[in-house]
Amino acid sequence: MNRHEVQKTLENKKVVIDGHSHIGISPKFYYQGGIPYALSLEDMIIRMKILDIDYSVVFPMVESLYYKLNLESDKVETSTQYSQFPYEFENRSLLNEIYEIYPQYSSKFLPFFMFDPSREAEKQASFMEELSDKYSVFGLKTATTYIQSFVKDLEGKGRPILDFVYKKNLPVLFHSSVHPQDPWASVYDIVDFAERHPDIRVCIAHSARFTKPVLDKAAKLDNCFVDVSAFIIHCKLAIQNSLAVATEDVRFPGDYNNPASVLSDLIKNYPDTILWGSDTPFYKWIQRYYLADGTLHEERLECNYDEEAKLLHSFPDEIKYKIAYTNVLKFVFGG
Ligand SMILES: [Zn+2]
Repeated sequence: MNRHEVQKTLENKKVVIDGHSHIGISPKFYYQGGIPYALSLEDMIIRMKILDIDYSVVFPMVESLYYKLNLESDKVETSTQYSQFPYEFENRSLLNEIYEIYPQYSSKFLPFFMFDPSREAEKQASFMEELSDKYSVFGLKTATTYIQSFVKDLEGKGRPILDFVYKKNLPVLFHSSVHPQDPWASVYDIVDFAERHPDIRVCIAHSARFTKPVLDKAAKLDNCFVDVSAFIIHCKLAIQNSLAVATEDVRFPGDYNNPASVLSDLIKNYPDTILWGSDTPFYKWIQRYYLADGTLHEERLECNYDEEAKLLHSFPDEIKYKIAYTNVLKFVFGG
C-alpha cells in the first residue's frame, strides 16, 4: 500500500499507534554493557500483539556504520569504509526488513528514515528519494545528541534534506535535550524550527523534557507535536532532578512519583499536542562508562517492557485514542 492508501485505511478505523519505536542494533551500547542494544522487527510484532498496539512508527537506532565504533571516547568520527553517508545501510536495512523479509507484517508499520542534518545531506536526501520511490515511508527521525549534529543545520548544511521533506510532505521527529552539555538537540531549537516552518509537521520527543515554555509554545503551533516516549524513566529523572530534564523553575508542574497523573495533566493542558510513543526498546536504559579516574559509572533507569503500554491503556478510551490515534495521525499525515 502506498502512503495515501495507508492513510485512508487508518482514518477508517480507530487503532492504537505507537508513535516512536526503534529496530536494529546499537553495537556501542552492547559492547559498553548498556541496555537496550537490539530489537528485530519480528520481536517488535510479538511485543505489539502482547501489548495491544496495532501499528508502530518505527525507525533505526541512532548508530550507523558511517560513524566509527569507538568504545573509549564519545567523540564522533566518520568513515566511508562501509557506508558512504549517514544511515545508508540502516535506512535500506529497515525497509528491507519490513517490506522484503517480513511482508506479512509490513502493513503494521509506518517506517521513518533516520538522518543526520550536519553531514552529507545531499547524498542522504537523494538516497531517501530513491528508497521512497520504491517503498512507502512515512517520515524522518533524527537523534542529533548521539551523532553530535545540530538541529539548526537542517536549514543550512542539511538543506537538501529539508527540501526533500517539503517535496514529499513528510513529518520530522526530533530527539530532544535540555542538558547544558548538549548543544545538539535543544528543545528550544526544535520548537523554534517548527515556528519558522509552519508547513512542516514537527514532533519533539521525550515530552520536550517537561520544559513548560516549550510545551506552551508547541501547543500554540498547529504543526508542532510532543511525544511522550520513554515517559516513565523521564519521570524518574525528574524525581532525581537530573539535568536530562527541565530544571524545576521551568518544569511542567506535577507529581512525578505518579506518572499517570503527570501524563493526564499534560493531556489536559495540551490536548492537541501530546502524542503517544513508547520508545521501545529504549523505555529502559542502562549506560556504563569509565570515568577519567578509571572507575565504572553506571546510569540505570528501570521500566518493565509492559509499563508504557499499561499506562496508555489505563486511560479511558476517549483519551487513549486521542493521543495514540488522532494526534499520531495528525502528525504523520497532516490534518
Ligand atoms: Zn527513541
